[in-house]
Amino acid sequence: MKKVNNIAVLTSGGDAPGMNAAVRAVVRTGIYHQLNVYGVMYGYRGMLTGEIFPMENKTVANIIQRGGTILKTARCKEFYEYEGRKKAYENLKKFGIDGIVVIGGDGSFKGAQKFSQEFDIPCIGLPGTIDKDIAGSDFTIGFDTAVNTAVEAIDKIRDTADAHDRLFIIEVMGRDAGYIALHSGIATGAEHILMPERKTNIDDVIDDLAANERRSKLVNLIVVAEGDEFGGANEVAKHVKERLPHLDTRVCILGHIQRGGSPTCLDRLIASRMGYAAVDALLNGQHNNMIGIVNNQIHYTPLDHAVKATQKIDPEWFKIVKILAS
Ligand code: ATP
Repeated sequence: MKKVNNIAVLTSGGDAPGMNAAVRAVVRTGIYHQLNVYGVMYGYRGMLTGEIFPMENKTVANIIQRGGTILKTARCKEFYEYEGRKKAYENLKKFGIDGIVVIGGDGSFKGAQKFSQEFDIPCIGLPGTIDKDIAGSDFTIGFDTAVNTAVEAIDKIRDTADAHDRLFIIEVMGRDAGYIALHSGIATGAEHILMPERKTNIDDVIDDLAANERRSKLVNLIVVAEGDEFGGANEVAKHVKERLPHLDTRVCILGHIQRGGSPTCLDRLIASRMGYAAVDALLNGQHNNMIGIVNNQIHYTPLDHAVKATQKIDPEWFKIVKILAS
């Protein structure tokens, strides 16, 4: 097994709260093992442009609680091409880098997989995405913070909905995965949750709202994932307004607030644990894997299997939603 001496860490794709905690864990664990640790700015783009700098314990002081990523993040077209990846390799070689930790989503792992096969620099992936939709981990860094942000916002919306007897249709993030919608909807007592993984009969939703109105239940919350089959909250509202025009219906799109903010304890914890395990994996030859946590144990998934996973949502959840909203 080739010894690893100089490692690089980068954040790539969409940002997620807790990425900083992961960067900190990689840097400090690497230094503990007497490795030289380098930071790469702006994901793969920084590998191409050579924005690579040495990191020390103090470089990552006071960041565990900060959202965003001190290493910045970006999407990089050139990295899809062999020529781009070759340029990245040449830059890394200038620093003698022989191991990489990539914190990002499934796209970033695809890039890492290709790169490690072509250039013999082992890569380790850490799942950093608010969507919680990566195969091989029960958690992803950022999900818990994003969903708690959504819950806090929806609680506030409920106060004003209650004051005015309004129906609110709230859109949360999730183009392909509805976990933020499902978890935040259940936690805020939503009457209906619409998400990409599950077909919704909009007539049933509207019939239910009409029935609620007949029994004077006028405050209703519908939580919609942005990637639901109708195309988000505004489209759902159109359907509702068409059939129940007299209802006081409002739309609220939570948007990017779900990506920001100080990471929750859970996100800091899993980011720290995964960052530590990433360095361990580089040193122990568990190369080209994504580090996940499954049943509270560190779990390795080969990078080419660390894909977007829209798991089947247990229908029992929707029974729970219906019963608890009655
Ligand atoms: P998110 O889930 O937040 O979108 P992601 O990591 O999936 O995060 P992408 O934009 O898909 O985000 O990927 C990030 C970067 O990884 C891309 O900009 C590109 O540089 C690289 N990348 C993605 N897919 C590939 C691929 N198939 N081949 C080479 N590089 C890739």
